[in-house]
Amino acid sequence: MLDCEVKNGWLQFLEFIQSRCTHTEFENWIAPIQMTSGNTDEIVLEVPNIFVQEYLLNNYKDLLREFIPLRSNDKELALTFIIAPPKKTAAPLKPVEERPSVENSGYELKLNPTYRFENFIEGPSNQFVKSAALGVAARPGKTYNPLFIHGGVGLGKTHLLHAIGHTIHEQQKKLKIQAITTEAFINDIVDSLRAKSIDRMKRFYRTLDVLLVDDIQFLQNRLNFEEEFCNTFEILINQNKQIIITSDKPPSQLKLSERMIARMEWGLVAHMDIPDLETRVAIIKHKAENKNLRISNDVAFFIAEHIFHNVRQLEGAINRLCAHARFQGTELSIEAAERILNELIQPSNQKKTSVESILQSVAAVYEVRISDLKGESRQKEIAFARQVAMYLAKEMIEESLMKIASSFGGKTHSTLLHAWKKISTQLHVNEDLGRQIQMIRRNIEK
Ligand code: ADP
Ligand code: MG
Repeated sequence: MLDCEVKNGWLQFLEFIQSRCTHTEFENWIAPIQMTSGNTDEIVLEVPNIFVQEYLLNNYKDLLREFIPLRSNDKELALTFIIAPPKKTAAPLKPVEERPSVENSGYELKLNPTYRFENFIEGPSNQFVKSAALGVAARPGKTYNPLFIHGGVGLGKTHLLHAIGHTIHEQQKKLKIQAITTEAFINDIVDSLRAKSIDRMKRFYRTLDVLLVDDIQFLQNRLNFEEEFCNTFEILINQNKQIIITSDKPPSQLKLSERMIARMEWGLVAHMDIPDLETRVAIIKHKAENKNLRISNDVAFFIAEHIFHNVRQLEGAINRLCAHARFQGTELSIEAAERILNELIQPSNQKKTSVESILQSVAAVYEVRISDLKGESRQKEIAFARQVAMYLAKEMIEESLMKIASSFGGKTHSTLLHAWKKISTQLHVNEDLGRQIQMIRRNIEK
């Protein structure tokens, strides 16, 4: 990887989170970080104190992996931190200027300009959610209220949320819309408590026409904030004001009060899945086209087959290819793509787990035969053990779902996904199952 590309990774990361966190959060925690050098092996970041370093890693480690290279030996982020020497001049501490309250500033709607319906590629995994989102955008407050969108990271929840915001804003200029992450909502409360302007803040939220709330899971374990959110929620819904919420889990699995969960289930709860192969290909081609990157169908399929967890990773792949293509100016071959994307598509260098080893361990714990696990028997005990094995295979093996599924005697990837979902859901309520799975994992990893 080229030095400038490594540096760009950090800059792209900055740009990306700037659009996602509040101004106060960015200025307090992220802006003080300086990149002192970035070469092919690592990026050195100078932080004012250890808290800033911890903040960055605690909150953004996973996201950083999409932008920053990983060390080849342990696949950890190739980041080194140094603590900045204390400044000599004892300038009086100037608190970061707080973002003027939205009301004062005449209120500003912050939406990512590229997160629009036109740029959202549709496929079986997201068709339902997209059409619900379009419905809500066309007639806010009159169809599903709230609309609750849930699904894993990087699958396009924020994209759709902002797309709804853009559409409503363009079609009904007068409506007062607020798009906010749950963290920003909490920060807003904290800021206004400090500035003794909580009443103004409450008034602001309670007079909105449309409230778009991203990542509601961050409200978990924040009791006081939850109550405030719930009150605002009820006031808005009772006046038929539209609320749209995104989350990484369905309402029932969130650790929130029953009252809050019940409210979120009032409207439509829509799930977003991992896009299938064809949709991933379409997304890759769309993203490449937007960046003027020419890639053949073969290369698009190659990427889609090897990168399948989420769309953000696909974007990361396109960004990398772009950086290289610009320097080389030739059409990309599959071999070149494979080389450039090596870090993204290679399974980690931990000991490779095979489907066989999972089957052996599951068969031993549930006392069934391996051939039954691969077979078609619907007998309860066997079917359950098979689903556990499928769950573990999806969790532990870095391969495409199709490939893993075929190792179970030629099952389809939707069977595998169904098994994975079922066991994931049960794991939340069934402690015995959790222990059994731990035991199987230990056996496999031995
Ligand atoms: P989430 O909020 O679910 O974590 P995001 O909405 O931030 O995911 O999406 C991650 C990235 O992937 C964004 O840049 C988004 O534009 C892109 N993306 C996700 N799904 C799609 C899609 N179906 N079509 C086009 N781009 C998508
Ligand atoms: Mg999001």
